[in-house]
Formats: sequence, C-alpha cells, structure tokens
Amino acid sequence: MTKILVSACLLGENCKYSGGNNKNEEVIALSKYFELIPVCPECFGGLTIPREPSEISGDRVLTKTGEDVTAEFVEGAEQTLYIAHEKNCPAALLKENSPSCGFGKIYDGSFSSKLTDGNGITAQLLNDNGIAVFGENAVKKLIELYS
Ligand code: SF4
Repeated sequence: MTKILVSACLLGENCKYSGGNNKNEEVIALSKYFELIPVCPECFGGLTIPREPSEISGDRVLTKTGEDVTAEFVEGAEQTLYIAHEKNCPAALLKENSPSCGFGKIYDGSFSSKLTDGNGITAQLLNDNGIAVFGENAVKKLIELYS
C-alpha cells in the first residue's frame, strides 16, 4: 500500500494551536487506499499544544504577539521531510491555509483570516524535495493519481 503523509489534525488529533483538531471524514476514509502517516510539523518543531497562532510575515513566522518562531517551523518541516523520505511517501495531504501545511494559499500575516498566495513552511520544503502536496479538498485527485 502506498504511504501518504497526512496532517494529523485532519485525522482528528488535537494538535491545532487551539488544542482542537480539523477532523475530516473524507481524509480519514483515505485509509482504504493508502497507509496514512500522520504528521504535525508545528509539534515536531517543539511548539506546545495549545500555542499562540502563527502566520508567515515576509521571510519569518511570527506569533500573534510577535514572537519569532521561524526556527521551530523550519525544524518541524525538516523532521516532516525526513519522515517522508524514511517512509517513502510520494505525496502529502495537508491542511489548507496553515503557515506550516498550506499550499497555494496561506493566511496573510495580519491575523484577520485573510488569505494570500503562498505556501506553508513544510508544504514548501516537501514540494521542493519532490513530494507532491495536496490540500484536503483534493482527496479525489490524490486517489486518482496514487492509489
Ligand atoms: Fe494541523 Fe499542520 Fe497545524 Fe499541525 S501544523 S495542527 S498538522 S495544520
């Protein structure tokens, strides 16, 4: 069975900054087609649950109160890439819009729920290293291409 990285919050893990999750039944049902490998880059980077929300601002990642958490985000991205290689995952299904996991659109750094073009730190690193990144709304496409 092909192994696919999945944002752990989409599988119901309470790893969001708020302490909640983004459980998505369509994503969970992917286990019929793939071996799902849960990852939470922000947790891998040493950030706590709960934690302050963060957004990308220029070339940094800042919390809402202005703490620079770029190093933690980069560490989490590197650990996620390591797992992708170790488990031989060709693709990742990640939470949309997140400063770690978002791909194509992310929050714009103003903490006002506005989106801008861009990729989360982990999504970018995975993509740069040949791992195909999909958002949770592309479940069908992932099945078509990889199952
Ligand atoms: Fe979900 Fe990714 Fe945020 Fe972790 S870093 S809570 S997996 S969106």
